[in-house]
Amino acid sequence: MALAWAGLILGGFGPEHKEPTLPSDSPRHLPEPEGGLKCLIPEGAVCRGELLGSGCFGVVHRGLWTLPSGKSVPVAVKSLRVGPEGPMGTELGDFLREVSVMMNLEHPHVLRLHGLVLGQPLQMVMELAPLGSLHARLTAPAPTPPLLVALLCLFLRQLAGAMAYLGARGLVHRDLATRNLLLASPRTIKVADFGLVRPLGGARGRYVMGGPRPIPYAWCAPESLRHGAFSSASDVWMFGVTLWEMFSGGEEPWAGVPPYLILQRLEERARLPRPPLCSRALYSLALRCWAPHPADRPSFSHLEGLLQEAGPSEGCCVRDVTEPGALRMETGDPITVIEGSPDSTIWKGQNGRTFKVGSFPASAVMLADAGGLPATRPVHRGTPARGDQHPGSIDGDRKKANLWDAPPARGQRRNMPLERMKGISRSLESVLSLGPRPTGGGSSPPEIRQARAVPQGPPGLPPRPPLSSSSPQPSQPSRERLPWPKRKPPHNHPMGTPGARKAAALSGGLLPDPELQRKIMEVELSVHGVTHQECQTALGATGGDVVSAIRNLKVDQLFHLSSRSRADCRRILEHYQWDLSAASRYVLARP
Ligand code: AMP
Repeated sequence: MALAWAGLILGGFGPEHKEPTLPSDSPRHLPEPEGGLKCLIPEGAVCRGELLGSGCFGVVHRGLWTLPSGKSVPVAVKSLRVGPEGPMGTELGDFLREVSVMMNLEHPHVLRLHGLVLGQPLQMVMELAPLGSLHARLTAPAPTPPLLVALLCLFLRQLAGAMAYLGARGLVHRDLATRNLLLASPRTIKVADFGLVRPLGGARGRYVMGGPRPIPYAWCAPESLRHGAFSSASDVWMFGVTLWEMFSGGEEPWAGVPPYLILQRLEERARLPRPPLCSRALYSLALRCWAPHPADRPSFSHLEGLLQEAGPSEGCCVRDVTEPGALRMETGDPITVIEGSPDSTIWKGQNGRTFKVGSFPASAVMLADAGGLPATRPVHRGTPARGDQHPGSIDGDRKKANLWDAPPARGQRRNMPLERMKGISRSLESVLSLGPRPTGGGSSPPEIRQARAVPQGPPGLPPRPPLSSSSPQPSQPSRERLPWPKRKPPHNHPMGTPGARKAAALSGGLLPDPELQRKIMEVELSVHGVTHQECQTALGATGGDVVSAIRNLKVDQLFHLSSRSRADCRRILEHYQWDLSAASRYVLARP
């Protein structure tokens, strides 16, 4: 989501490679994909409505999916952006990669893919997150109330669980940020946007990117910025930045710092400062996520437990607090204790009724888990955060905290969202325009330096492992591939319903031969996502042989859905007895 504003790194890294060698496969041994694509959805079954947003390679609309039973399900439909010549190879590759990743995921905090429409454009039909992105919610202007600290902590635990799940499946997300967390309900977030997900592999369990691709600079771990290396540990770093965003009301990390300085500052051990709403214990956790060495960062499954420990305590106000300067509360108000210890008489917390944050006498709150006793236990067991002693930098100056100082009001804290974002987009445009290097340090990554001299190659799909030599025919070497079949736009049917399409073509009088029309109809009904015109052309090429036309079109569909050769696609289809849906599942499971 919104990588467009997250910025581009146009510097290339070495040749893109995963450290593992993927096993080659052969249509002779085609295992069923694990989990499997939920389904191929007929174009006419999905009705698109209001625009929800746009991302790097497509737009997302609210939609309604009519199931064969007649039941309608609200969905989100992501359509691949298509130019006059079709989608760019990289966009198509990322789109298909996102499909192939999502189709095997099933977790309460991971956005669910319902299926794929092999139409024009290609469309992903996903679970709808009706409340939009967490970033939009965090930056929503008044009168929308801010999110309660207790809720943010719940979201962090949900996120850690989802990320532990992805890591256990050998995947690295690479774009963890509040913009990519969607609100499925007021208390449920889902990880979304799998366009940058890659499989991890090799003994070192990491993925090294190659080629000039966009990455969200300000969220990235130093090893990602310097070497293009991504791993579960770099996702953990991003988790720390996401935590920081959440407690900063959706502020931009490293706002105003040019990209080349971000890496330099990280390597000098500067870190994002502790946001006022973030407890020392949680900030301490964020700092652990930002350990310079990936091996020193906690794993996501470890983080789940650590978050539980570092989370705030919940309590209830047992007497009205009206002292000047103190957080106002009335008996019965739910209070989240952000900072407090048994030897302190003043605590800091949030009033769940008024959303206000401030300090208050500890005696005014009874902790929910204290069994009705006055609050005397340590609220947090975490050690004081290093960065709390040195805000802004691990080795920086200490700023003395005043317990009675509430954080500035939300509106004062940031009037920035859109304006600030614009600035950031500019600042992250490209390493090609990074500006002057500071003398004596902060050199750009060698890969980036090299990329400056190397012109960017033509867009293309990422390489796929060839079929094994046991295939009946040798697989083709990487071959010419048009970015996308040069299809005519749908015939005046914005929803693309096949019925409307047929009616338009038939009434157009283009095909006076009723026998030909019948054959075209037969072909069109047999091949998911083809146009009337394509059927007519396919029939022309086979001398009117319906079966051959159907098969050729299916090969075409599969060819454009994967980056395998036509010969491979034909073999896969033969293996699946020309079931395009099963063959699609197979190729999508192996991007
Ligand atoms: P993406 O292409 O994934 O970057 O999505 C672009 C924008 O569309 C996001 O920022 C969201 O606001 C919105 N969006 C994407 N997926 C969904 C969804 N499943 N439900 C609701 N909104 C979505």
